[in-house]
This record gives sequence, structure tokens and C-alpha cells, in this order.
Amino acid sequence: MHSQSATHNNGQGAEVLARQGLRLPQVVLERLRDAGIYCQPTVSVEHQNLAKKYVVRGVESGGAVADFGAYSSFVSERGEALAWLQRVDSIGVNGVHAIVVAPVLVRVQMLRIARTYDLLVTRHFLANSPNNPRPRLESSILFYGRRGGLEMELWGKDVAFRGAVSPVFYTRAGESVALPQELRRAVTRITAAVCCLGCRHCHLLGPQPIDVEHAEGPTSADIVAQGETSAAVAEADSMRGVLDERAP
Ligand SMILES: [Zn+2]
Repeated sequence: MHSQSATHNNGQGAEVLARQGLRLPQVVLERLRDAGIYCQPTVSVEHQNLAKKYVVRGVESGGAVADFGAYSSFVSERGEALAWLQRVDSIGVNGVHAIVVAPVLVRVQMLRIARTYDLLVTRHFLANSPNNPRPRLESSILFYGRRGGLEMELWGKDVAFRGAVSPVFYTRAGESVALPQELRRAVTRITAAVCCLGCRHCHLLGPQPIDVEHAEGPTSADIVAQGETSAAVAEADSMRGVLDERAP
């Protein structure tokens, strides 16, 4: 996956951005907090004692009110939907929705203020450290777009277009920047998420496949399909198919 950016971001600033996610001005942080939107883009290195291996951990979180929204989640290196480790239910809305662990995570983070969108996509993986059994977390920017525009009210009158459209980002010279093909599906999903008022969903992560008692790998029929989750399963499954075809 090649790195693309709609703005220039070099050196140390890019490193911090890649690691920590979008750096939001204090006033934006305060507005998000006052609105009860909790978006946590942090990734961490965790050790699995039974499997004796290290993994990268992140959470899917965020949501929206009419004026703005913030959301962060994860897909695979090829832009495919990942299964959550655990879904998190809470009384409140616009908070933590699920937890994911994997050897490599691609984080997709978006901020919306009215019809203006910032998007940051970063890759996080573990690199072996000499003389240290604990690996280093390496992070890099795959796409960074600022002040992208989408002249639709996906949180209101244009709700029917949610999941089908995403904002357009421009370079400083005014040229539109194409999203990497493998990220397009994830970006339309996170665009929907930052327009989802009072969000209680998982917009990017999906349910875990269940390994039923036979030797073959899990198929669609093996996946839990109960009540509300069945639509999400079908959606996540079809998403995998679509993204498989599109992946390079
Ligand atoms: Zn939602």
C-alpha cells in the first residue's frame, strides 16, 4: 500500500501523527468532550501469554452529533474488514464499540466538522528489536487528507447515501487526491460513522467467525448469525469479497 498525502507532512511531525493519530486543537477536543463523543485512536503493543506472541491492540470508537463527528477504527493491511476480539456494549452512545488485536493494523481515523472532513490512515506493525524480546511498534502514514469536502448532509436529509460516498481531498495546488483503491470501502464506512448520530454500532470491525467441529476453515455458514448481528455478518462477509477482488 503506497503512502499518499493531500498535505505535506515531513520529519518528526509525521512520526507523531503516524503514531498518535490526528492532533486535534484544544477547542475541538473540548467540543467533542462536551458533546459526549469519545474517539480513542491509540494503539498499543500487548503480549499474549498463552500464544507467547506480541500483538497490536486498538479500539473502535467514536460517533457524531449533527455539527461534528469523530471516529477511529481498524482494517487489515489490504483494507479488509477485521473481526473484533470483543464487542463492547455501554449505556452511553458515541463511545467505545469494540476491541481488536492483530499482528498488523491499519488505522482509519476521521474528524468531521459540518461538511469538512480530515482523514488519516496509518499502518502499525511490530518490528523486532535487537537485544530486546519486546518488539517495537512501527507506524507509518498511508494517507493524510485535510479539509476534504462532501456537500451532503449524511446525518440528515442525505442519510440514504451513507456508506456510498466519501469526501474529496485536494492538494495545496488544488488537485484532487485519489484514495488508494484498497482503502475506499473503509473510508466510505468511516464517513458514515462520523455522520452517525448517537452511534451504537461497529462500522468497520465485524463479528468473529466460529470454528465449528470440522477440519475446514470457517465459512459464512459458520459465522454466528443472530438478530442484529446477522446483517452485520452478511455485510462484513460481502465486504471481504469485494475488497479481495479489489486488492492488488
Ligand atoms: Zn453508528
